[in-house]
Formats: sequence, C-alpha cells, structure tokens
Amino acid sequence: MHDLVANQRSFFETHQTKPLSFRLRQLNHFEQVLKAHESRLLEAIHKDFKKSAFETMATELGLVYQELKLAKRQLKHWSRPKMVKTNWVNFPAKSYVIPEPLGVALIIGAWNYPYFLSLTPVIAAMAAGNTMILKPSELPSETSKAIQKMVLENFDATYFHVVEGGAATTSELLKQKFDKIFFTGSTQVGKLVYKAAAEHLTPVTLELGGKSPTFVTASCNLKMTVKRLVWGKFLNAGQTCVAPDYVLVHQSIETQFLEACKAEIEKSLYHIDRHNYVQIINNQHFERLVRLIDKGKVYLGGGANKAERFIEPTLLKGVTFEDAIMKEEVFGPLLPVIPYTDISEILEKVRLLPKPLACSIFTNNTQERQQILRELSFGGGTVNDTVMHLANPHLPFGGVGTSGLGNYHGEAGFKAFSHFKSILHKGNWLELPLKYTPLTSKKLWWIRQILKL
Ligand code: NAD
Repeated sequence: MHDLVANQRSFFETHQTKPLSFRLRQLNHFEQVLKAHESRLLEAIHKDFKKSAFETMATELGLVYQELKLAKRQLKHWSRPKMVKTNWVNFPAKSYVIPEPLGVALIIGAWNYPYFLSLTPVIAAMAAGNTMILKPSELPSETSKAIQKMVLENFDATYFHVVEGGAATTSELLKQKFDKIFFTGSTQVGKLVYKAAAEHLTPVTLELGGKSPTFVTASCNLKMTVKRLVWGKFLNAGQTCVAPDYVLVHQSIETQFLEACKAEIEKSLYHIDRHNYVQIINNQHFERLVRLIDKGKVYLGGGANKAERFIEPTLLKGVTFEDAIMKEEVFGPLLPVIPYTDISEILEKVRLLPKPLACSIFTNNTQERQQILRELSFGGGTVNDTVMHLANPHLPFGGVGTSGLGNYHGEAGFKAFSHFKSILHKGNWLELPLKYTPLTSKKLWWIRQILKL
C-alpha cells in the first residue's frame, strides 16, 4: 500500500496529470474503456444481485456516462482561473483563483450502486487532475472484480489503480497519507474514515446515509405522488441512499394514500420478472430487514424468501417514532407510514432525528413547502418527486450533519477534488507609501478614509 501511494505521488509530482489535454485524454479513454467493458459489467452486477441491464443502464452506467460527457464539455471552463474583485488597499493589482488538483486521491465506494458510487467520484478526480486509488465495496464481489479487471488492464497503476477488499484492507489504506479521501457509505464507518484522515489532516468528502423523510400533505396531487413515491422507494429493492425511508402523510388523506399505494405496488411491482428483481445484498441485511417487519402493522406485503433474498414491497401502517423501524436507516423495501395532523408538530419530531441525506415533499401548497424547506435541514431533495435530484448533475449532491460532509456531481465533483489557490497579482508601476514608516497621523487619516472607518 505504501509503495502504491508513493508511486502515485511520484507520478503526480511529474505534473503530467495537470494539463487540460492530459485530463481530457484520460476522460475520453475512460469512456472508451467503459463502453468496451459494458457487457461484462452488466453481467457482473446481475450475478451479484440480479440487477437487470435496463436498471443498471438507467440508474448506474447511464449516469456515469452523463457525468463523463458533462466533464468533457465543461472542463475547460471549470479549469480556468476565475477573476475576482480587488479592493482599494491592494491597488494596483488584479486577483484570481486558480484550481489545482489535490494530489493522490483515495475513493472508497458503497455497495448499493456499485458502479455509479465508485466511478462518478473517479471522473471528478480525473477531471481535476489527481491520481486515484479506488476501493470498491467488497459486498458485490463480482462487480468489484469487474471494476478491478477493467482498470488494471487499461490504466497505469501510478495513475489509477483499484484495490479490492473489505474493512481490513480499507483500514490499511487509510493509514497512508492521501491528499483527498472521498468516502461513500454508512455514518458509522464515515466516522472511522474521518478519524483516520485527521491523522494526516487530509481533506474528506463523506457521502453518508440516514433516515430520509417524505412529506405527503393534504394538498398533494395524490395520483402523481403515489406513482413517483412507489417507484423511488422500491427502486433497487429500497437499497437507495436517497430513497424515502418513511412517509409522513396528512391524516385526512391517509386511507386514500394507503389504498393508492397498494394499487400502484400491485400493478407495477407484484408481477415483475423475479429473475430481474434486485435482491437484498446479503443474508445479514435480509435478516435485519425481516426483523424490522412488525407483523401487526403490515398493511401490504411482509412476505420474504430467504433462498432468493427477496422481500415483498411492504407498507407498514400506524407506525410511531418509537417503533424499531424508526430507530435505524431502513435501506430495504419496507415503507413505514406515519399520519400527522399539524405540520409544525411533525417537523419538530423529525428535527429530533439526525439531519437526513434527502427529503421529498409532495405538496401543492406554497406555504407548507416553504415551511418544510425553511425548518428542516437535509442534504438535498425533491418537491413533488423522490430520488431524482440525484440524477441532475448540475445540483451539488451531498449530506449535512451525520448524513455527510461536502458534495459532488458535475462541477461540485471537480471542486471536491481541487484546491482553489487565491492569488493577488500586484502591478509594479505604483506603490502607495501608506504601510511604510514613518507612520504619521496623516497616513492614519488616509487609512480611515480607505477603510471607511
Ligand atoms: P459501509 O459503511 O458498510 O461500507 C462502505 C465502505 O467502507 C465499503 O467499501 C467497505 O468495504 C468499507 N468499510 C466497511 N467497514 C469498514 C471499516 N470498519 N473500516 C474501514 N472501511 C470499512 O456502507 P455500505 O453498507 O456499503 O453502504 C450503505 C450505507 O451507505 C447506507 O448508510 C447508505 O445510506 C449510505 N450511502 C450513501 C450514499 C451517498 O451518496 N450519500 C450513497 C450510497 C450509500
């Protein structure tokens, strides 16, 4: 590990990764490599958790290509020094900010969208001119292997390398000195990464999780709400970091809402081809989820098949904040529904939980929407939809508080892997004598004028 990092640092210090032409060439190369390996990547993810080619293209590789294309198109603009104003005290001068790559970046991926979550930060790091060591999640083992094979065959290890392994390997990696650590995963492991980074004062981006609420207010368009909510919740069998973790529905429409959700789930999910229905990632998560199903509160579903690691899309009714399912991130196809009567009261309860990664607000009432946006802190979210803010690369994506630190996607990703060097560039044709001795009262008067004191 030490040699791997040292070799990447030596390569970085040759400055070869910095020119725009090099970075564009690598992005183009990466796009070609991805295309050439596409069928192998699709096969690997299906072996890991039965994710279909359609879903993998729509929710993983499609988004990776989108990031690549945006980075290639915008890189020249992102990389330009940005002029800023200069104040009178510094006259005559101009001021600008130059982006520069941080150096050797470590990227640690999570398992639930193994391609998107590992490769999107790589694109950002590459665009900014870093060298990269990627450690994909070991849980989808075929996917991790496929990523490693693709990278090892097509990139020099001194520039971009993949290390496979779990907690022990990651801990070894974290002992090394990196110039940037980008981590996606749980809040618990995020804290370990933050501690390890502090040892070397390495800057971090932490993309973590949490319980993301969904508000369904009395004024919402119920038909549209249910369609979009059911899709976003049960996508990837509920194993999506920004998926609605629980629903807060206005009591006046609770029955209608539950009936409409039931109808939508039965129509769109109960007849799908099980060969292509995403599985729960492993037995441990399967058993954890089964334990969270309170049989007395099941409104729909609740069935599970261990051999297939399949859990029916499940609606739970009459859930309270005291229930076990409200004490941890669900991260599976279980949707607890909690009725509320007063928006201020329910917001108070939600604020007692850690700040979530996402929030979905289904409403046609401006005041309610503004109140939720003003009073609840969360990473990012959607109004009248779920999940989809993640698919807009122009929106910085990240959490707040225990759901994360920093953000990425599009230009925000480029910034996450860059340092912005501030330069005051002085002209030589004039030097005001004010700051030099003798420090007279006249000069003090001038300083007061200039500083408007
Ligand atoms: P995880 O924290 O268990 O694992 C993430 C990575 O850390 C993996 O690569 C794993 O090998 C490594 N790791 C695990 N234990 C470690 C340890 N003790 N020391 C060092 N490294 C260790 O997370 P996960 O189960 O892969 O992902 C699920 C979590 O990630 C959920 O909380 C979810 O909300 C969150 N998530 C967040 C985002 C986001 O963009 N914010 C995206 C996907 C998932």
